Amino acid sequence: MSEPLIRVRDVERTYALDGVTVPALRGVSFDIATGEYVAITGRSGCGKSTLLNVLGALDAPTGGRVEVAGTDLATLDERAATRFRLRSIGFVFQRFYLMPMLSALENVTLPMAEAGLGARARDARAAELLARVGLAGRERHRPAQLSGGEQQRVAIARALANGPRVVLADEPTGELDAHTGAEMIALFDTLHRDGVTLVVVTHDDALAAAARRRIVLRDGRVVSDGAGA
Ligand code: ADP
Ligand code: MG
Repeated sequence: MSEPLIRVRDVERTYALDGVTVPALRGVSFDIATGEYVAITGRSGCGKSTLLNVLGALDAPTGGRVEVAGTDLATLDERAATRFRLRSIGFVFQRFYLMPMLSALENVTLPMAEAGLGARARDARAAELLARVGLAGRERHRPAQLSGGEQQRVAIARALANGPRVVLADEPTGELDAHTGAEMIALFDTLHRDGVTLVVVTHDDALAAAARRRIVLRDGRVVSDGAGA
């Protein structure tokens, strides 16, 4: 077996808030290989977002370790963590988080500019990525001029901007109606077939069923981890 892309070992995350401690993750372990398409499911409050944030180095665990492509995330200082997120992780959120004053194309070029790619190259790559997510011809639209599903497609193109090792998505269909959600599921399927590694947190049974593996959390622990749904 080759090295897993993501290695999670005994991860704990306890939040301290006003003297009360909330154990959001209580010892989570699993591996994810390059090219996998994994859904993380479980009831609201079971720790899904906390786990995703830890995988993407947006948050640090209070116990255990996370390695991505052989790097122990705990060894990254703030600068290195920022660089890691920019180069290695593509984030997709429920509420899209696009920049409202920027066009679709500009939203997608933003992470490439931060990574130091030249203007010509980033415009060309952003146009390609928008076409890949089904938005050819929408380059100049601002988020408010796009439907929810189209905005999420822009966010997915942005997540792919720097060729990340993994795309982490938190409830990507949570704001979309069923029909648009189904289109998003089809898009994730295409990305999976193209070799993109996907880890998707979701309540959406249709999306969870589309993933090739499902990890179920309950009260901060993995209660099931297996193929299909
Ligand atoms: P999910 O995404 O599965 O709904 P979360 O990971 O958001 O769950 O939250 C897991 C638990 O941690 C919940 O009990 C939640 O209230 C708590 N929690 C999440 N974020 C914070 C925070 N920043 N401060 C304190 N408690 C938090
Ligand atoms: Mg959540």
